[in-house]
Amino acid sequence: MKKIAILGSTGSIGTQTLDVVRENGDIEVLGIAAGSNISLLEEQIREFRPRIAAVWTEEKAKELRVRIADTDTEVVEGMDGLIQVSTMQGAEILVTAIVGMIGIRPTIEAIKSGKHIALANKETLVTAGHLIMPLAKEHQVSILPVDSEHSAIFQSLQGNDRKAIHKILLTASGGPFRGRTQEQLMEVTVEDALKHPNWSMGQKITIDSSTMVNKGLEVIEAKWLFDVDVDQIQVVVQPQSIIHSMVEYVDGAVLAELGTPDMKLPIQYALYYPERRYLPGDRVDFWKLRHLDFEEPDMDTFYGLKLAYIAGRRGGSLPTVYNAANELAVSQFLKRQIKYLEITEIIEDCIRAHKVIEHPTLEQILETEAATYDRINSRR
Ligand code: NAD
Ligand code: MG
Repeated sequence: MKKIAILGSTGSIGTQTLDVVRENGDIEVLGIAAGSNISLLEEQIREFRPRIAAVWTEEKAKELRVRIADTDTEVVEGMDGLIQVSTMQGAEILVTAIVGMIGIRPTIEAIKSGKHIALANKETLVTAGHLIMPLAKEHQVSILPVDSEHSAIFQSLQGNDRKAIHKILLTASGGPFRGRTQEQLMEVTVEDALKHPNWSMGQKITIDSSTMVNKGLEVIEAKWLFDVDVDQIQVVVQPQSIIHSMVEYVDGAVLAELGTPDMKLPIQYALYYPERRYLPGDRVDFWKLRHLDFEEPDMDTFYGLKLAYIAGRRGGSLPTVYNAANELAVSQFLKRQIKYLEITEIIEDCIRAHKVIEHPTLEQILETEAATYDRINSRR
């Protein structure tokens, strides 16, 4: 039995990870952690019988303790709880399916305790990649990508020399607003932005996909995972989301991974790597599909993507500013406190105002996040 723990078990990636566990029947879930959906957490505890379950707030933890008093699962809370799940004895892989840079500390602690990381939580790598990648090397643990594009790149790298990478071709669906102008985006509502054409995901990443900030985060994520310069990463819009990304080698060969859009494939691949398992679901039918389309991304309208290249190229604390500004701006947009186009305006403003710290420590990353939040909050 493979033994895993999951941060963010009640979310889109978390529940699909549990689907993969259920369908395969040979993985044991030792720990789970979630924010506040304790009804679902209770169901998960009853089905998977983890040793510990972490909840973010003290109040919800208390409530959960009462609800599952008849089980053997221990309920823990807060950041300490997340870290307990991340470092728990016996777990081989930690699936990081929590959303946001709150995942940094638990991820670092998991690596220090020798866990392999199945990484969905891209915000952690974007802000702390310079700490995480060397730490993973030091502790000889793998960072296995769960993000579909990065999984596709990882799959396309199998059996090849990484030194022979010429370019990474990172595909993007273009989101629900592909082809629109800035003017047409002025009145976008929360409901409009939450309708993704190909993928069903958590709210934050769905908004990020619509602004193309998700692709920006993925450019920086790829830089860390595959040790390439951001300028070696080219974003290619592939509206059908069939090609999940590609690698161009020095001899001109391009290798890609294709499939129907289903996150269970990258999740399962990360959990069983290097083994491939049967996965039920739709297959690509090329007779029906007939053609695939490609476009250049519109980085003038969706300049959140352009800003990611600026932040990724400059490095240091700038990617933290890019990410933190986006996290707060998106949550304000979801609460209808700001307009859609302000998300990218806020990121740009924070990036321009920031004085870069080279090679920031964990403390400096968290201070940069707090300073970015202060700047945004003082506008209102
Ligand atoms: P989601 O919003 O559906 O789920 C987030 C999970 O994190 C929930 O279980 C939530 O309870 C938990 N969580 C949030 N705050 C927490 C806290 N303070 N303490 C403990 N738990 C907390 O998000 P998602 O779409 O599953 O995305 C998760 C991560 O995976 C993100 O980083 C996202 O960018 C990445 N990702 C998601 C997809 C996808 O298809 N959904 C694809 C690629 C990458
Ligand atoms: Mg992705």
